[in-house]
Amino acid sequence: MEFSIPAPALWALAQLNQAGHQAFLVGGCVRDLHMGRSPGDYDIATSALPDQTRAVFAGCRVIETGLRHGTLTVLAGGLPLEITTYRVESGYSDHRHPDQVRFTSRLEEDLARRDFTVNAMAWHPALGLRDPFGGRADLAAGLLRCVGRPEDRFGEDALRMLRALRFSAQLGFALDGPTARAALALRRQLDHVSRERIAAELTKLLLGPNARRVVCQFWPILAVPIPELGAMAGLDQHSKYHCYDVLTHCAVALEAAGPDKLLRWAALLHDVAKPPCFTLDSQGRGHFYGHARLGGQMTEEILNRLRFDRDTVRRVRRLVELHDYPIDPPEGSPERAVKRLLRRLGEEDFFRLLDLKRADALAHAPQYRGRAALCDDLETLARQILAEGDCFTLKELAVHGDDLIAAGWAPGPALGRTLAWLLGQVEEGRLENDRQTLLDAASREKKPE
Ligand code: ATP
Ligand code: MG
Repeated sequence: MEFSIPAPALWALAQLNQAGHQAFLVGGCVRDLHMGRSPGDYDIATSALPDQTRAVFAGCRVIETGLRHGTLTVLAGGLPLEITTYRVESGYSDHRHPDQVRFTSRLEEDLARRDFTVNAMAWHPALGLRDPFGGRADLAAGLLRCVGRPEDRFGEDALRMLRALRFSAQLGFALDGPTARAALALRRQLDHVSRERIAAELTKLLLGPNARRVVCQFWPILAVPIPELGAMAGLDQHSKYHCYDVLTHCAVALEAAGPDKLLRWAALLHDVAKPPCFTLDSQGRGHFYGHARLGGQMTEEILNRLRFDRDTVRRVRRLVELHDYPIDPPEGSPERAVKRLLRRLGEEDFFRLLDLKRADALAHAPQYRGRAALCDDLETLARQILAEGDCFTLKELAVHGDDLIAAGWAPGPALGRTLAWLLGQVEEGRLENDRQTLLDAASREKKPE
């Protein structure tokens, strides 16, 4: 098979092979090349010991990323190449990291420690493909299958279960039967994995084009780090507006939303508070009063638990809180409503909110999906307002956070509120959008802390 492999990667393979070692491309890049996808990174496995690798690349910039585990990063022609000595891992007493790592001269042993058959192939410029576990056949069948016994492999490193779901969402592959059963059975072991690693895998999963199927099929696994999802699964909404249970509705919305981290997290969690807010009226109709507000709080708790940064938490929470907010109420001018919200959220999150509302509408019962068109109209209106320079956002304000800090303000929420207040004054024509005018107004309004 012909691949287009970047010249620096071929050069590095040749350097090692010509020095009497053996070197292969391995892992994700071999998988991606076979699928016609462009690899995110190129990893090389070699029989050379770390010191030998260092000697081969003596003239290059080398970063000793994980020297203890045999990994060097070589910067060749601007491309960072991870070069790792063939190794065998053993004894995973914490269900995450090997207790021992031993170097080996046999490629097959190195491939055997890898997670899935499609990730356990190697390619050599002269020797071609090495595929001892049938990765190519699984690739053709679209299957994720553990190398070896799935129970053992997930028991060694619990993160592999989430990696399986993540690859399934990204590549559209199904989990092989025994692999899927083992992941479901051993899911509690995910408690051994750090929250940061879990969050990183979950974000990749949610951004995958097949996230909806993975969420619907494997929610019991996802409910280990996010138990709130378990309460949403199967909850009948008792509503003519809905044709899905709460979790399926969120998964459908997720897929209808664009592949953006904040938006996809907001879509997954937008109805997270429906279970605790559920009531049934005398006619048997379901209601969820206050679910957006409580959903915001629950979202904040969940994302904090997963150690997301503060900005991400704040913005996803706000999207969840506002997902039901009528941007364009029947009374009042739509221009004013759009401008107000553009000012409050900023351009980026305003359009995210529209995307979320559109995706939410598209996940309703077929006859109630028309509200998505309203979002299209609001988007057109907002773009028009912005094109005409008719709405000030914080970006256009003649004073920024830095200016206030230079004038003695402390960074923090009070500063944000002052900027928003200034913006409102300018928008309503009470103040000129002029630097000195605004600085004067700010210090009149509130003394620096
Ligand atoms: P991506 O496209 O996300 O980079 P990838 O397959 O390259 O996918 P990496 O996390 O970069 O994934 O890992 C590189 C390779 O290392 C994998 O293809 C796999 O062979 C191996 N690997 C990574 N993590 C594990 C793990 N937890 N257990 C076993 N093997 C792993
Ligand atoms: Mg990779």
